[in-house]
Amino acid sequence: MGTNELVWKKRTREEIEKFSDSYKQFIDYAKTERLAIQYFEKLLIEDGYVHIDNYTGKEKKVFYVNRGKSLIAVNGDISNGINFVSAHVDAPRIDLRPCPLYEDSGIALAKTHYYGGVKKYQWFSLPLALVGVLVKESGEKIDVCIGCNDDEPVLVLPDLLPHLDKEDKKVSEHFKADKMNVVLGSIPLEGEEKEPVKKYILKILKDKYNIDEEDFISADLELVPALKPRDVGIDSSFIGAYGHDDRICAYQGVKALLNAQPNAKAVGVILFDREEIGSEGDSGAQARFYRAFLRKLLLVNGHSDTESALDELINKSTMLSADVTTLFDPSFSEVHDKLNVAKAGYGVALVKYTGRGGKGGASEAHAELVGKVRNILNKNGISWQVSLLGKVDVGGGGTVAKFLAQEGFDTIDLGPGLMSMHAPFELVSKADLYETYLAFKVLMEEL
Ligand code: MN
Ligand code: MN
Repeated sequence: MGTNELVWKKRTREEIEKFSDSYKQFIDYAKTERLAIQYFEKLLIEDGYVHIDNYTGKEKKVFYVNRGKSLIAVNGDISNGINFVSAHVDAPRIDLRPCPLYEDSGIALAKTHYYGGVKKYQWFSLPLALVGVLVKESGEKIDVCIGCNDDEPVLVLPDLLPHLDKEDKKVSEHFKADKMNVVLGSIPLEGEEKEPVKKYILKILKDKYNIDEEDFISADLELVPALKPRDVGIDSSFIGAYGHDDRICAYQGVKALLNAQPNAKAVGVILFDREEIGSEGDSGAQARFYRAFLRKLLLVNGHSDTESALDELINKSTMLSADVTTLFDPSFSEVHDKLNVAKAGYGVALVKYTGRGGKGGASEAHAELVGKVRNILNKNGISWQVSLLGKVDVGGGGTVAKFLAQEGFDTIDLGPGLMSMHAPFELVSKADLYETYLAFKVLMEEL
């Protein structure tokens, strides 16, 4: 259900490809949540956004970056509320443990800890890049990106050869977290008796980055697929890339923010970290940083009782909880409810509710808001459809929506459908990528 209009038939290939090209550039750069936020901060500053610390009440465009991992930006007069798009910039990946390095039988390895909902087997025998930051005792921050360029080595979690893998085990029993050890090297440091291979790796890291072994303890290091975004399909109708979930909505949201004209309400974007592990911590959707930002906006605009003014502002605001949803996959049709699943190329998907089982843990949009969203999308000729995460009782999931709804925002989930969600190489239809951006823009302007 929905408009049932194929985007390819109503937009030109040229405009779809133009948006796709700029997105591919972004998704190639934004290998971590920090890099995604850096990318967006630069775009906002170029567009004239001022940091909240420099806000005087006269500027229309204001932003704040929280710990380099989350962000809020607002444009326009906030007295009638704000139409927000929120998305998350973290993605499933393989982190290093704080004490990762060891040597066994002439091979140096590093211990890892998977982050988010990964199917572990997908991460073995795959070229990986090590990306992130290490912080020295002095506070100096060292950026690392090993395997990001074609002339650099990549890392890998080796899988077992099929010859020794005949035992009939379930995938979940076979691919265990303690087998996810990344190979670092095999050349010994000359003159060393104890752990000579590990010492040679440490010497390379010291020479190149000035890193010591203890620096791994104060680090955010992630192993991510060392894969370039690529067109997929003989007709190039899909983009395959790592991290579509949910950097794609972050990108569509920021692009919509930059191009939207605020009308009755202001427009805004909130980008969160930690969604894939339950929106925890001081950079996730359960954190208070965006409330602190809004209170500061209200204070500078002359409100003394900012707590009441904030409640009122949130009540007048709308939250488009922008996240990817499932796309119908003909090879796995048994898990989908055909009436309630997004199809490739049919536009942005409205997800009335999330959760699992009997709507446990669900965030459900009120009928009134869904009606309003439908109306705006239809009025503007935007292709939209309906999606849910599978048949009842097959599985389920959640987004940042429920945490924002709890705060009082009128909230609805929507976004493009993906195939192979959470895999190292996820697929999105270019048509849905572009149409979702258009949807965010008109909803920001007209809700
Ligand atoms: Mn997501
Ligand atoms: Mn996810």
